[in-house]
Amino acid sequence: MDDAARQKLKDRILDEMAETQERIMSLEKATEAVAPDKALGRLSRLEAMSDKSVNDAALVEARSRMEQLDVALSKVYQRDFGVCVTCRKPIALERIMALPHANQCVACASKGRLR
Ligand SMILES: [Zn+2]
Repeated sequence: MDDAARQKLKDRILDEMAETQERIMSLEKATEAVAPDKALGRLSRLEAMSDKSVNDAALVEARSRMEQLDVALSKVYQRDFGVCVTCRKPIALERIMALPHANQCVACASKGRLR
């Protein structure tokens, strides 16, 4: 991977980290415990609780995405980053963005070849 590609990848990671951080913050707000004494009718309280479980799941997902992006960012300047450990060919940028911890290209990963 050349320097221009690394820089581009790093920019994309940082962009997505900023977006993910915003999503985490708004989800954290949305998942604050539903106060039991809130003057909600029974039905709207159930609705609030079911929204909460949806948001909780989204929050878990957003946090794990953030961890992946963090890993990608910490590895972006390593010499082997973005190179398949099996065939030594470059890993597609889209794959790295989707799975920053991937160390194999799609072809090798789908063949289940080991390093
Ligand atoms: Zn490969």
